[in-house]
Amino acid sequence: MAKFGEQFIQQVQQAIDIVELIGQYVALKLRGKEYVGLCPFHDDKKPSLNVSPTKQIFKCFACGAGGDVFKFLSLYEQYNFPEAVRALAERAHIPIPAESAAQRQTAPGLSKPDLLKVTAFAVEFYREQLHGPAGRGALDYARRRGLSDESIGRFALGYSPDGWDGLLTQGRRGGISQEQLVAAGLALRREGGGCYDRFRHRLMFPIFDPTGSVIAFGGRALSEQERAKYINSPESVLFDKSGQLFAFNWAREQIKASGTAVVVEGYLDALIPLQAGVGNVVATLGTALTERHVRMLANHAREVVLVFDADQAGAAAAERAMEIFMAQQVHVRVATIPAGKDPCDYCLGEGPEALQALIADAPDAMQHAWDRRLAEYQQAGGSPADRQKAVREFLRLVACSAAYGAIDELRQGQLAQHIGHILNVPAADLQQEMRRLSRQARGRAQTGGAPAPRDSEMITKDPHRIILQVLLNQPELFGGVNERVGADDFTNEQLAPVAQKVWSLGREDRLTLEAVMGSEEMFPYSQLLADLAMAGERLGQDGGAQAMDKAVENLLYQRSNREIKQLQAGRLDDEALRQLSEHHRRPDQRRAPRIQ
Ligand SMILES: [Zn+2]
Repeated sequence: MAKFGEQFIQQVQQAIDIVELIGQYVALKLRGKEYVGLCPFHDDKKPSLNVSPTKQIFKCFACGAGGDVFKFLSLYEQYNFPEAVRALAERAHIPIPAESAAQRQTAPGLSKPDLLKVTAFAVEFYREQLHGPAGRGALDYARRRGLSDESIGRFALGYSPDGWDGLLTQGRRGGISQEQLVAAGLALRREGGGCYDRFRHRLMFPIFDPTGSVIAFGGRALSEQERAKYINSPESVLFDKSGQLFAFNWAREQIKASGTAVVVEGYLDALIPLQAGVGNVVATLGTALTERHVRMLANHAREVVLVFDADQAGAAAAERAMEIFMAQQVHVRVATIPAGKDPCDYCLGEGPEALQALIADAPDAMQHAWDRRLAEYQQAGGSPADRQKAVREFLRLVACSAAYGAIDELRQGQLAQHIGHILNVPAADLQQEMRRLSRQARGRAQTGGAPAPRDSEMITKDPHRIILQVLLNQPELFGGVNERVGADDFTNEQLAPVAQKVWSLGREDRLTLEAVMGSEEMFPYSQLLADLAMAGERLGQDGGAQAMDKAVENLLYQRSNREIKQLQAGRLDDEALRQLSEHHRRPDQRRAPRIQ
């Protein structure tokens, strides 16, 4: 069953630093001895995720997610244990031991790490094509759109040739199967058998995940007749559109450093500014911004500037996004590019400084929405029905902002006055309606919020838990405990396997938290182990030793009670009786009698 030996797993575990790993996905800040950040596994509003560099574990105090490096990756990327080990081994450049075919998973070659090799292969293929004779037109197009040769290399652009099987044929030569290309979203099945390339005669933009692996592609049509100007890879094992932003891998550091993330819509709208030194720009991948996108940005930025098209659709998209950002307590501003241009053209035409200035001066999203409503209202000409509709929209906007704390009572009052004046409605009526809507919106904000913290682990009285909590932190105490209680004393279904592992490592003098966690059999207990280890740390060194002493006494007391009951029920055999009397004769060396 086990695919990797324990030694290999622990080699990988030791090569990966958990702070560095998690830091690639979540912005972490040092607080005391631990790092904290917004938890990516629930809708986190305050930093609930704690990462311990000394223990190499993470734990969210709101949703309870926790574990080691393998657990984090498996939760984040939806890997199983072997996939997580393999991905981290590759990351640490540790050669993976050869696996026999029988040991492989049911679908050979279709796991996430396998498919990442397929996409990496495709990047190389498309890149070679771009710089070969067939790619001349595509290369010209990329240059004409303003990309330098250096950028074309840096962003790993490529060309998918105009045929039906360019990638398929090259894949066959490189040992990549049709099934793999289909699973990676690069080929399509033909009715009646066979496959064909998904991307044909297109300029190819690889889409990277935050760690720098290519998970999908976007393709820009090069023929005018082509109806779909852009196509993207479909959703796959690798690619989940609602959780990915284009160029995030290049922009992340700059977003973190500046505290601002700029969101645009197109590939070139992100790449041209990046090339010109505006380094904090990411693009949505042909979808509306989702809560996951927003959370990803909120982890790294204090504020977000949306640069959407100036048309109606763009403005509406900006407003939809605004509400999601407010729920995450990220400040949002909305920049509008003048004269119907897109950010790419604007940056090329007016220069990066002009784009920077536009971003810096972008009005608050509220203000933007306000201005838009006002313009609509004025255009509508002020019929009673229009007026009512405008009032409702204004109020909804204000209420939503108030609910998320974006504006205070005073500002609400001012806005009511202002709206009342423009629309000729009594301000008092408006304020009343506003308060009603605020309460509603607040209700929504709260029910969608984080679950209550689970701190039961911190104050447990269960002696079994306390013993494990302390041993995972102070393995040097194992000898003393082992003389008095054994793993068999742990009768709790969940704790028993953990205790067995702790005892088996302890007896071999190899007990550490890493050793306990670093095995496939313990993988399902990863979260429990992180809980126990964190809780144990909070007991402190002396506090832990004392708490454990008491817990051991407690356990022994429970056991002798059990024994007495069994004795009364006449269920002890002679051997157990002999052990028991010996055990009571030598109170200082009470070794656990084994009662079956
Ligand atoms: Zn959480």
